[in-house]
Amino acid sequence: MALDKSSFEIEYLRGGSRQVTSVEHVPGCEHAPTLALSDEVNAWAGRHRVVFTTALMRFLRNDDELAAVVGHELAHNVLKHRWSQRRWEEEADYVGSYFAALGGYDPEHAITLWPRMARRNVDGAVFRSRQSHPTFPARMIALQETILEIRGKVERGESLAPEYQD
Ligand SMILES: [Zn+2]
Repeated sequence: MALDKSSFEIEYLRGGSRQVTSVEHVPGCEHAPTLALSDEVNAWAGRHRVVFTTALMRFLRNDDELAAVVGHELAHNVLKHRWSQRRWEEEADYVGSYFAALGGYDPEHAITLWPRMARRNVDGAVFRSRQSHPTFPARMIALQETILEIRGKVERGESLAPEYQD
């Protein structure tokens, strides 16, 4: 896949059926999605990259779950998180939920995705360090509050901007 082309085709399997989609290359995000061949259910943010493993792509049940992961990892990059710290995981969950909602996806899917992912792979990137990552119940409570905040803004017709301050 060369990003300097104006379009390219992606061939993939969905529900056992081979699909081909043409994708127009429209620069709009400097954080390129990258697919890594791996049996580990994992994703991580890197300098100008958001990396997803092939095992993660098989693990995800729908596009809303993918949006939860994309939002979380993209938030790490946008917020310029360089090392894993507990509060940065909370920020990535918070801002990432907004990214998912802004993309038209249901951020509530993160509530079921993260526990399922933790059960599948407790060493996954999102849960890699016990020191740096929020305890699971605290993370789920914060995420639920974020989803209620987003839902409230949608119901009131307010813009979907995170209440984020440096
Ligand atoms: Zn993270």
